[in-house]
Amino acid sequence: MFVSSIKHKMPEQQPEIRRRNFDEVALGYDDTTAKAEASRCLQCKTAPCRQGCPVGINIPAFIKHIREGDFTAAIDEIKTKNNLPAICGRVCPQEDQCEKFCVVGKKGEPVGIGRLERFAADYARARGRKQKVILPPEPLGKVAIIGAGPAGLSAAGDLARMGYKVTVFEALHAPGGVLMYGIPEFRLPKEIVRQEIEELKELGVEIVVNAVIGKTFTIDELLTEEGFDAVFIGTGAGLPHFMDIPGENLNGVYSANEFLTRVNLMKAYKFPEAGTPVHAGKRVAVVGAGNVAMDAARTALRLGAENVYIVYRRSEEEMPARAEEIEHAKEEGVEFRLLTNPVRIIGDERGWVKGLECIRMELGEPDESGRRKPVPIANSNFVLDVDTVIMAIGQGPNPLVQQTTPGLAVNKRGNITTDETGRTSKEGVFAGGDIVTGAATVIQAMGAGKKAAAAIHEYVQNKRKGARNSQ
Ligand SMILES: Cc1cc2nc3c(=O)[nH]c(=O)nc-3n(C[C@H](O)[C@H](O)[C@H](O)COP(=O)(O)OP(=O)(O)OC[C@H]3O[C@@H](n4cnc5c(N)ncnc54)[C@H](O)[C@@H]3O)c2cc1C
Ligand code: SF4
Repeated sequence: MFVSSIKHKMPEQQPEIRRRNFDEVALGYDDTTAKAEASRCLQCKTAPCRQGCPVGINIPAFIKHIREGDFTAAIDEIKTKNNLPAICGRVCPQEDQCEKFCVVGKKGEPVGIGRLERFAADYARARGRKQKVILPPEPLGKVAIIGAGPAGLSAAGDLARMGYKVTVFEALHAPGGVLMYGIPEFRLPKEIVRQEIEELKELGVEIVVNAVIGKTFTIDELLTEEGFDAVFIGTGAGLPHFMDIPGENLNGVYSANEFLTRVNLMKAYKFPEAGTPVHAGKRVAVVGAGNVAMDAARTALRLGAENVYIVYRRSEEEMPARAEEIEHAKEEGVEFRLLTNPVRIIGDERGWVKGLECIRMELGEPDESGRRKPVPIANSNFVLDVDTVIMAIGQGPNPLVQQTTPGLAVNKRGNITTDETGRTSKEGVFAGGDIVTGAATVIQAMGAGKKAAAAIHEYVQNKRKGARNSQ
């Protein structure tokens, strides 16, 4: 059989249409294309692709099922390791993970592992296929999870499947973390997030929303008065950074976090049908060049902006966003102002943004990150004519839990420190995801949740054994 050296293309909405709607951009494989793509897999005995998957999916096994047309067996295989496959198939940076190690990728393009995972998950979702789980008659213990992002949800799913009574406490009114408030609808439809979370609830996971740990309960209260055997902290990196330049408090300046939360979580793109407004101007500058910046820029376009600029102090080569996201942004008409750094935001007499003063940069010697350091070019200042500025230069850890938990060690950035299994300095308390690593990826957070779930199981069972032996 002829085997293509490139991945089968996934159909997409055309750029000139999609730049003005919030519908999903990528449309997914049909059955025939999925089988053809699955046939590109060589079924390597050593399966190097598996090394790149933080949750350890048996990749050749699920791909073989797709090739043979047994799509339900494919999803059953995936779900033994991954609680949120429709999400991961869409947002994982596979080029840096499983697909990076794929043998086929040495001579041509790697197998489209992410696209196949997405296909299997969507196939099962469309048919209402659920996992069968047999739970023990008595729970093995009680575990509290703080934060309903990918780290917390992955730990919750694994622990529930082992037989624990799991309660997830989430500060916002909807679970999902960044999946719900950060990543836009056109990359990850919120209905899919809701459905995958519903399935976790069917495993017996209880999700308590509007519960801010550190205020509603402290960790110590959960471990004593509330009777939890262990706690997992997955509170993420939700605190936006700003540049500390003049004018950042003018009207029309957003953190990417606020801008995206209004649009994604609060559905401000449907205002006034939805209760939350958003002011997106006609000329928008987004500062930064990571995935968050691309998401904010593409969202601004969809809200009707005429010009959207990515303002970035280094060059295209150093941009941290995924190549696919940059490509999509360019196709939709986002304009890139590279080697450009903001120095001041200029306001009008009513306190609204009317311009962004920038300075041109050139690349000097490599810095501690190994990337060439951007250096300002003297007297090269100019003003970008914009009415909205969105800061997307990074996020730090949510501090509340650390501040209200005596004995919990943090590093100098405020991230919780753990061993490789997720154990913190405080007995019975585990942590994982962005709150430990700083802003990273969905699948890394899920991998951390999975590891911690195994460590929590060991901890709780040892503790119970110890208690029985001392009776
Ligand atoms: C705009 C954007 C786009 C991204 N795009 C991608 C992508 O395409 N691919 C990818 O792999 N990664 C992407 N990422 C990164 C990825 O989303 C994160 O790495 C991942 O969500 C981290 O998961 P987490 O569970 O650690 O934290 P989060 O997803 O941040 O979840 C933490 C949860 O904890 C809750 N919480 C915080 N404090 C408390 C408290 N005191 N009490 C109760 N609850 C609390 C928060 O409300 C939140 O729901 C993106 C991030 C952003 C912001
Ligand atoms: S490395 Fe590539 S070809 Fe080999 S089993 Fe994994 S996906 Fe298939």
